[in-house]
Amino acid sequence: MRIVVVGGVAGGMSCAARARRLDEQAEIIVLERGEYVSFANCGLPYHVGGEVPRSASLLVQTPKTLRESLDLDVRVRHDVIGLDAAGRTVTVRTPEGEERIAYDRLVLSPGAKAFVPPMPGIDSPRAHTLRTVDDAVALRAMVDQGARRAVVLGGGFIGLEAAESLAVRGLEVSVVELAPHILSPLEQESAAIIADELRRAGVHIHEGVAAERVEPGADHDVVVLADGTTIDADLIVLSVGVRPDTAVFEAAGVTCERGAIVTDEHGRTNLPDVWAVGDAVLSTDAVTGARRPVALAGPASRAGRAVADDILAPERARPIPTAVGTAIVRVGSQAAGMTGANRRALDAAGIAYHTIHLHPSSHVSWFPGAEEVHLIVHFAQDDGRILGAQAVGRDGADKRVDVLATAIRAGLGIADLIDLDLAYAPPFGAAKDPITMAGMMGENVLDGTLRLWYAQDLDRVLAEALVLDVRREDEWVTGHVPGALHIPHTELRGRLDEVRAAAAGRPVRVLCESGVRSYIAHRVLDQAGFDSASLSGGMITLRLVL
Ligand code: FAD
Repeated sequence: MRIVVVGGVAGGMSCAARARRLDEQAEIIVLERGEYVSFANCGLPYHVGGEVPRSASLLVQTPKTLRESLDLDVRVRHDVIGLDAAGRTVTVRTPEGEERIAYDRLVLSPGAKAFVPPMPGIDSPRAHTLRTVDDAVALRAMVDQGARRAVVLGGGFIGLEAAESLAVRGLEVSVVELAPHILSPLEQESAAIIADELRRAGVHIHEGVAAERVEPGADHDVVVLADGTTIDADLIVLSVGVRPDTAVFEAAGVTCERGAIVTDEHGRTNLPDVWAVGDAVLSTDAVTGARRPVALAGPASRAGRAVADDILAPERARPIPTAVGTAIVRVGSQAAGMTGANRRALDAAGIAYHTIHLHPSSHVSWFPGAEEVHLIVHFAQDDGRILGAQAVGRDGADKRVDVLATAIRAGLGIADLIDLDLAYAPPFGAAKDPITMAGMMGENVLDGTLRLWYAQDLDRVLAEALVLDVRREDEWVTGHVPGALHIPHTELRGRLDEVRAAAAGRPVRVLCESGVRSYIAHRVLDQAGFDSASLSGGMITLRLVL
């Protein structure tokens, strides 16, 4: 059997390698348009920044090593420009000319290409995408040759990794993001922590504004924003998203939706003996059911393996799961991770949910090195199933996101988190880990022990309710919500009459620094007959939202 794989990186190469491990007899040909296969595209920003000094480190395998170890026939500079499904051949453009290659089974993993917005001046030689090894090498060369000012168009994961890398190299960096905030898959209050970190590193952030044009100049370019701002740039990084690289295959009859290849749960396309995986494929969101491509390395690589199984051992092939979309980015000393759906996706899907915010320590606060982990968890109002989560912090955010990603995949409810046996010793966590605390807080919300109000609703709350601040005096004087009543939570039980008088029949909306003391106060007020609620995430979240 001859298996032909198009695309020699995450999805394609994992498929080819698995196929060989299952079948020593199969002829396996990998066709790759570019110069390299199996390269670590996730490492490209770190090569620009110098953290990965040698571009060769990003080349995990070469055609030679793949021939030696897996007997794969890997052909670089082989661009597939046609597919004849009836004749079972692909047409390939090579440096030597065009040729046709027959297949018995065909796997498409062409990935996505960087989107280049149709903007005047964007073809300036100073503007680069960051998608290939050559892109990274070119950007790094521009830095080495003395570029001083960089503009990054797009404040997503790759854009911010690029911005951080360039700032580390000493460039003056500006990030321009069209969405209301950078890292738009994150909630605003999570993204705000990363924005602060970037600003501390000297990066200028322009949010909620489009770049309108690039004005190329002899000495440098000028990026002009829709609000009239002009930014001088010696180099411009384009990271405004990707599009499935599927035109050739769609033209040949592969069914696509908005350019992404439609497959079944085993990666099979509509054409016989043609499979597709990776960034080029339409995924179904595990939480909302929305259909969209998911551009992440782990899912691409796992789908490649599953397709090899479906080709060579279909009786035991695992279906490719729906997409949870777990992702993480490091910016400065902060990490921001997310899994599952965010508010926007849940609202669009019409799913009723609760949200909790908490800011526990990454490990017990008395042990050196403890840092706040800012956690947000969304869970269903009806049955408590976990729908999405985000974690931001200098320590321990990654493991909390991974636990929550596992919980979503397993279909756990928020209260199930209480029962997880998580590893604890002082340097690593707490007997009540942040995950455990999220479970307890969520259970309290579900059973009505805890009622929450949200920072985003502050204006309405100020108009309709009494805001009660239960922090200590020294915290209160550093800044508070105008018009709030101040009673430290330790004094509240003896001063309920003051609350009753100030509320004058209105609801009482309690706040403290993180939401812990306001929860205690809420319990006191609730049991004393007040209509009360506690601010989710407290002043820490409120400051991030305002
Ligand atoms: P790719 O890995 O892009 O491979 C597709 C290959 O197919 C390309 O080499 C292309 O040249 C080739 N090809 C396309 N069309 C043809 C054709 N017609 N003929 C022959 N060859 C063709 N994901 C994460 O999960 N975490 C990260 O930290 C992360 N960081 C990233 C950083 C950067 C800078 C980039 C660019 C991506 C990052 N990703 C990250 C995304 C991740 O790399 C992709 O999701 C993953 O590589 C997708 O695998 P794929 O096989 O679908 O496509």
